[in-house]
Amino acid sequence: MPLLLTHAAQLLTLAGPDRARRGAEAAEIGLVRDGAVLIAGGKIVAAGAHDAVARQAKTLREVEEIDCRGKLVAPGLVDSHTHLVFPAPRLDDFERRLRGESYAALAAAGGGIAATVRALRACDDAGLAAAARAHLLELRAFGVTTAEVKSGYGLSRRDEPRSLAAVAAAGDTGVETVLTYLGAHAVPPEFAGRRADYVALAAGPMLDDAVSAAGVEFADVFCDQGAFSPAEAEAVLRAAQARGLKLKLHAEQLAWTGATQLAVRLGAVSADHLEQTQPADHAALAAAPTVATLLPGCALFLGTPFPPARALIAAGAAVALASDFNPGTCPISNLPLIMGVACTQMKMSPAEVWTAVTINAAAALARADSRGSLASGKRADVAIFGTDDYRAVPYFMGANLCEQVIAAGCPRTTCKS
Ligand SMILES: [Zn+2]
Repeated sequence: MPLLLTHAAQLLTLAGPDRARRGAEAAEIGLVRDGAVLIAGGKIVAAGAHDAVARQAKTLREVEEIDCRGKLVAPGLVDSHTHLVFPAPRLDDFERRLRGESYAALAAAGGGIAATVRALRACDDAGLAAAARAHLLELRAFGVTTAEVKSGYGLSRRDEPRSLAAVAAAGDTGVETVLTYLGAHAVPPEFAGRRADYVALAAGPMLDDAVSAAGVEFADVFCDQGAFSPAEAEAVLRAAQARGLKLKLHAEQLAWTGATQLAVRLGAVSADHLEQTQPADHAALAAAPTVATLLPGCALFLGTPFPPARALIAAGAAVALASDFNPGTCPISNLPLIMGVACTQMKMSPAEVWTAVTINAAAALARADSRGSLASGKRADVAIFGTDDYRAVPYFMGANLCEQVIAAGCPRTTCKS
């Protein structure tokens, strides 16, 4: 049945071109007071001033209405960077890090990424699917309707495809998922001292297994000091590109390596993290379609420097925000909290952070043409918040103001249609 959202105190349409917004455009969120949205067949029919949209609804029979008086209606949020297939938290790491132990000390004690790899390999398929489902539902509770999910805790031909298959096995959560192969996340213990062999596996047979088993769409590499070098990353990414995958890259989180410019050179859809980027990197991103995806939850959790959002925006880069939800460095599934942190710690404006989790995040998943704004013909992914001012969402940091999510036109919690 068609659906009409009536009399929203504020409606954010993000109307405009179906691409990432840069510079001053990033603050243009298409704010409409007393707004309405008309949905039919899982798509947006119209979104804008209430009376005009309501008139259009009168031409349809049997329209279900949702009263949005006093509410904020926005595009469903897009979380374009998560590692949410993990079966257990890393609470020992958490406590050790608070005592001042280094990552090397954590790893020596059996912690770090290797701990999650052990846990994932020991977890059966049903357990992994249950973990993926629980984490997707957490995202959805905060207003997310599209999420990227990476592998990277399997690190073997058996377990990388298994971790991606867990996302499909999670069933209908109302969150549309986009899968990314991150076989080059860490060198697993059984390849200690044989990293070249592992890179060859990640760029060859394991990549093939992941692609054929799971319908993966992107490839990513953790390119950083202590992880994979730009040359190793390039080998894996070129192999992925040759198999038809689009690219992402973990770039410049811990140290400057040149990864951002590698991402631009390879035509990556996004370069993610960027804490240690320099002006030349910002200029490269400004001149490229590659979206700069910032993950300030990591800096918040670890107490490390925040990414330079203002410099990136000033240079003309397209900035997206994502949670980086993962058990080691950012156990935060609350994307509105990330929006608040980006405001207070990175001085992004409330309007800019809305753009960064909607149309720009959709662009970071090569989906700006189908979601990220409330425009006619787009997927009807809508989040309704219990506030009459869009600035309240980043302001009430840690609170969940999201009251309802509509996924592909369905207002129910879980829905097959
Ligand atoms: Zn990440």
